[in-house]
Amino acid sequence: MRYRRIPDETVRRLPIYLRGLLFPLEQGQESISSQDLADFVGVNPWQIRKDFSYFGDFGTPGVGYNVEKLVKQIKKILKLDVAHKAALVGVGNLGVAVLAYPGFKIYGFDIAAAFDINHSKIGKKIGNIVVEDVSNLPTLKKRKISLAIMAVPRDAAQHTADALVKVGVKGILNFSPCYITVPKKVKVMTIDIAMDLARLPYYMPAH
Ligand code: NAD
Repeated sequence: MRYRRIPDETVRRLPIYLRGLLFPLEQGQESISSQDLADFVGVNPWQIRKDFSYFGDFGTPGVGYNVEKLVKQIKKILKLDVAHKAALVGVGNLGVAVLAYPGFKIYGFDIAAAFDINHSKIGKKIGNIVVEDVSNLPTLKKRKISLAIMAVPRDAAQHTADALVKVGVKGILNFSPCYITVPKKVKVMTIDIAMDLARLPYYMPAH
């Protein structure tokens, strides 16, 4: 089934719904109302109904949405219906925390490789991953890893991204606090915690 173009705002909320639906799915719950899902994920029920209508799921009045079907649909739209292997580049403070975080698994992500430039880190085992030399990046193609998480210092970000693009990486989650440029065929998402925090005081009530 092909879905019509879904607005980016809706796509942004889909992982929130997915996270909210995985628990009832695990519990064997068959259906969920938009109100119950809304209470669980903190999004308005009308917004949920509107978002789901983009992919043709209008639920059943009085019954709600079929949880299993919804999870399948959302995973398919987000292309999470297949497992994704990801590589981590930069195994410092943040990189180690990323490697230890179990939360990627629920979306089907497996951090299958980690790279660093520092010889004191190369060869070390973190969890079940052995840190490799960045010179091994060209092996990513053969290992079918097309997603990367970058947790390198800012001044290493652009050339690390260039190296990843060169070996066929198509998606980069960048933690370095800077803008990086990549060819159009590659998608970069930058997460800057400090920048998010910088927006917070604006929304805080005055004393
Ligand atoms: P860190 O200095 O602890 O770790 C950086 C790691 O990258 C080191 O292991 C280093 O050897 C490695 N590295 C450097 N150049 C490399 C290269 N060319 N190829 C591969 N590896 C290379 O830094 P950190 O605290 O882990 O932060 C990583 C990035 O994330 C930084 O850009 C930082 O600004 C950003 N960040 C950090 C935090 C945090 O809480 N630590 C939060 C948000 C963003």
